[in-house]
This record gives sequence, C-alpha cells and structure tokens, in this order.
Amino acid sequence: MPFTPLNLELETRTEQGLLRRRRLLDSPQDVHLLADGKPYLSFCSNDYLGLASDPRLTAAMQRGAAEWGVGSGASHLVSGHFSPHHELEVALAKFVGKPEALLFSTGYLANLGVVQALVGRDDGVFADKLNHASLNDAMLLSRAEVQRYRHNDVEHLALLLEKSTSKRKLIITDTVFSMDGDLAPLPELLALCEQHDAWLLVDDAHGFGVVGDQGRGALSNFGLSSPRIIYMATLGKAAGISGAFVAAEPVVIDTLVNQARSYIYTTASSPALSVALLESLNIIRVEGWRRERLQELIQILRAGLTELPWKLMSSATPIQPLLVGGNQDAVELSDGLRARGILVPAIRPPTVPQGTARLRISLSAAHTEADVNQLIEALHELAC
Ligand SMILES: *Cc1c(COP(=O)(O)O)cnc(C)c1O
Repeated sequence: MPFTPLNLELETRTEQGLLRRRRLLDSPQDVHLLADGKPYLSFCSNDYLGLASDPRLTAAMQRGAAEWGVGSGASHLVSGHFSPHHELEVALAKFVGKPEALLFSTGYLANLGVVQALVGRDDGVFADKLNHASLNDAMLLSRAEVQRYRHNDVEHLALLLEKSTSKRKLIITDTVFSMDGDLAPLPELLALCEQHDAWLLVDDAHGFGVVGDQGRGALSNFGLSSPRIIYMATLGKAAGISGAFVAAEPVVIDTLVNQARSYIYTTASSPALSVALLESLNIIRVEGWRRERLQELIQILRAGLTELPWKLMSSATPIQPLLVGGNQDAVELSDGLRARGILVPAIRPPTVPQGTARLRISLSAAHTEADVNQLIEALHELAC
C-alpha cells in the first residue's frame, strides 16, 4: 500500500474534525444557490458586492471573448500581454491612487511574486500574526528573516524594528483581516515605516471595492498616500471575477516585471477577463448603493446576534465572524444551519488559531433584510 501514510494523516484529520471537503455548486455564485443538489441561502462567498453573476459582467466577458478570444496563449513577457490587460492596469492604478499597476493571475501569485521580488537573504520581513496564508508562504519563499508581530500590535512591531539589522525592511499586513474582519492600523504602520526606512505591503483583498470613497480600498479609507506603500488587491472578491494587481511606484512595478517569478513564469490571464474587470470597476465606482446596503445589513446582523452563547467578533466589514471555539462545535453549528437551508462555513485551524474555530458569516449587497433575518432566527433556534 504505497499511500498508507497519507491514509493515516487523513484519518487523523477526520478524528480531529479537520477533514476538508468541497461542495458542488450547480448554479451561479449568488446568495441563493444550488449546492450538492439542494437550494440554499448562502453567507459563504467573498462576492461582497453581489457582482459574480451580474449579467452586465457576463455580457462584458462575452464581448471580450468575441473580440480577443479566450486564451492569452503566453506569459505577459512573451506574447500574452494584451490591450485590455494594459487598459485595466491603467484604470486600477488611477482608481487606488498609485502611479502604476501590474496584473497577476491570482492574489496568491501576486503575494508570492511581490515579496520574493522585493526582499531576499539579507533582508527582514515583519508580518502580522493573522496575515493571510499566501503572505505567510510568500515570506518563507523569499528567504528573508521573518518576524511576526502580535495582531495589530504596533508597539510590538516597533520593538522588532528597533532591534533589526536587516538591510531592507518590509512590513506586511492584511488591511481587512480575512477571518476576523477587523482593520489594520495603517496610519500607525506607515509612521513606523517612515521612522525605520521600511516599506509597507498592504493586502487589500477584502477592502478593495468595499471600503473607502467609491470602494477605492483601504488607502482611500484612511486617506493615505505614500510611495513607501505597495498596494495589492484581488479581483475575485468584491470585483466578482478573478485575478489580482499590485499598485506602486514605477520602480517597484519594473522590479516586479523583471524579478517576480510568479509573474514571469505563468500564462497571462485571459484578455476577456480584463474586459469584464473594466466593466466591474465601473460598477464598483458608480453603484455606491451596494456599499450602503452592506452597511445596513451589517447593522441588522449585529443587532440581531447579541444574545447568543457565541460572540460576534468586533468587525465593521462584511466579514462577520461568530466565535465558537471548538472545531467540532463549529462544524455542528454550521451543520445545523445547513439543515435549515443556510450555508455558513465553519473555519478551523490552521486557517485560524487553535481554540478559535468560528462561523465566518459573509454578507453581500445581494442579500436582503429578510435573508439576514432568516439567519438570525436560525441561530437563535440553534442556541436553545
Ligand atoms: C483571497 C485572498 C488572497 C488570495 O487571492 P486569490 O486571488 O484568491 O488567490 C490573498 N490575500 C488575502 C488577504 C485574501 O483574502
């Protein structure tokens, strides 16, 4: 039996309530969907603005495919860099207030590329303990010295920076933490960067389209502008499609084009995706009601979940985690909701720290007040 060790590992996972499985969707991504053949009300996706199945984006993708075909056929540096990619990069840079932007195929690849291109053996990376897995993988791959500071603890970070003898220093943080929904103290982090001549990489996967004036993201939200900030965001969450970009000074972008291995050695995304993303960017900018709706739904949810045995974590974003604690308890609560026709994922270690398993409720502008009330009622039933 060549795979006995793998079988044993999977059995251990099962015993610990940590076995992961996929659900099969038989309908477009939306708040009402068909999963494993059954209809559900879903609070699972990162499609915060409800754009993933917007007919205007579907039409834009069809137009894009008709004009440019479906495949890019090559990496960006060979012959896969198309006009729609370029147009999208220009629009994204302008939208987030940076001189230039560079498209990546996914956020995971963007993070791997940017960290590996900017720092190496003699350098130091300072990272929030709750950063996304892709940032953690990126810093390990970079071979820089890695120091992790306590979540959002600016004083801890200051101590680490004072002791550091690294040549280049890169501070890395999520802007909106993906499993907690809280915001990083970006103005304080930037001040530390200035004091210690460090760079700041912000991962705005959950802020882009959602926070800031017209959804321009975390920098706009805090009114921050600095050449030291390297901005990264994904296009598969609020933007409803897929991909990611890094926006920064031209010298940083040129460095990425020349050094970021996950940019250089991969096929460019389909130009049709960029055509659809340009349409998405326009909707993000002009349809402010989607962000207003989200804020209303957040208020309704938070007001409705006060008297439960589980605590809603402090968050003003569409990510509203309900802290359960034990892995099995979180899974049982998620199963209980599923039996009532509601999908909310249980998030367990190692995605979150031991003992903090939770339900990650994510809201979308496509939810109605009635949808949110249905979730509130179901949770109250399950609490009895
Ligand atoms: C989702 C996510 C990523 C990865 O982006 P993909 O485009 O899905 O690969 C990176 N960082 C954070 C904080 C994320 O939530």
